[in-house]
Amino acid sequence: MDKREHWFNEGAPLFRRALEQLGLADRLPTTEDRYYACPCCLIAYPFEAIESQVLTIEHVPPDALGGKGMLLTCKRCNNDAGRHFDAHAIKRAEVHNLLLGRQTNRPVRAVFLADGISVRGEVQSSGAGWFMQGVPRRNDPAMLDAHERALREASERGEAPQFNFELAERFSPQHADVSWIRSAYLAAFSALGWRYILRPALDPIRELLKSDSLPELPLVIGFNPTADSGSRSVMIVREPENLSSVHVAIGQYSVFLPDPWGIMSLQELAESISGMRNEEGGVSAMLSGQLASWPKKPMYLLDRAIP
Ligand SMILES: [Zn+2]
Repeated sequence: MDKREHWFNEGAPLFRRALEQLGLADRLPTTEDRYYACPCCLIAYPFEAIESQVLTIEHVPPDALGGKGMLLTCKRCNNDAGRHFDAHAIKRAEVHNLLLGRQTNRPVRAVFLADGISVRGEVQSSGAGWFMQGVPRRNDPAMLDAHERALREASERGEAPQFNFELAERFSPQHADVSWIRSAYLAAFSALGWRYILRPALDPIRELLKSDSLPELPLVIGFNPTADSGSRSVMIVREPENLSSVHVAIGQYSVFLPDPWGIMSLQELAESISGMRNEEGGVSAMLSGQLASWPKKPMYLLDRAIP
């Protein structure tokens, strides 16, 4: 059976049970286990959405950031996130890779200056060195000629030309952060299931994902430059109590999401984290709780725990 069909059939009865428990089952058109909601927009789709490719496999984190197919989301949410958020996260990751001397997967836009004459181009990193290239279609041919002449004349004079470059890749750090928060939310859903994400405490996360304006971000995301980019974890944090949460770490990014019991709201978590900042703006905390294994498919741990 197709993986998507399998995931649909496994998740549909658990979705119905979670709705029943919340007193919301009458919102489904029939009493059969034939509906599965996209965890981002919470629109419930019938099985036909598998055949018509409306429910598709989503990678967490995005494919271009090393993710693997983990769960079903609707095509519209998947495409919207790619355009509004993931594109920014991917550009930011490439700029980081370049600056850290790691290999880049795609070119990063840059401006090259020779004796003050600028040319638009691209930089890539092999991990061992940088490779720079002007991009003719982004430049006035006269400027390209003048730039080359400046470099040539300097070397003819036996001088090192005045050459430098600036990275010109444009991304929005807020939108890049939303991409990571979204990945964390999807991983938490895959690990814990419907009973977790249907809590009203998770509404602010879904609101964030809808937004195509510049979102106002609660301070629930952190960056740890020394973390291994392949590390992954989902933890239900019990202590410290003012960080009661679901903590998701994906490589260098870590995100605190509301806990499954309704102790801390997203806003309260953000305030706790803010209050723990040291002079450099960093936060370090010893977290303890229950570690769930990183989901390779939807696991629904909380849905399955209750008969
Ligand atoms: Zn959706």
